[in-house]
Amino acid sequence: MKMPDATHQCDKDCRIQFGPASTTCAYYPPVYDKQGNNINPDRNTTSGECWCRTCGKKWMYSTQLGQTTYTEQACS
Ligand SMILES: [Zn+2]
Repeated sequence: MKMPDATHQCDKDCRIQFGPASTTCAYYPPVYDKQGNNINPDRNTTSGECWCRTCGKKWMYSTQLGQTTYTEQACS
């Protein structure tokens, strides 16, 4: 899994902890082409909050089709 870009620039030993996630629950029935590729993959989005236990940075994350994007949150 890809971690936030900021952690790659951080020289500390970052530990990213993930909070409770929520996932959209649309149903994507698998549809295959004749090569056996699923052409209707699950597009549900899982999102939540995560933070670095080492430096205290916080992000909102969102995962769809195996790709995770992070939005950094202002520190509280
Ligand atoms: Zn960190």
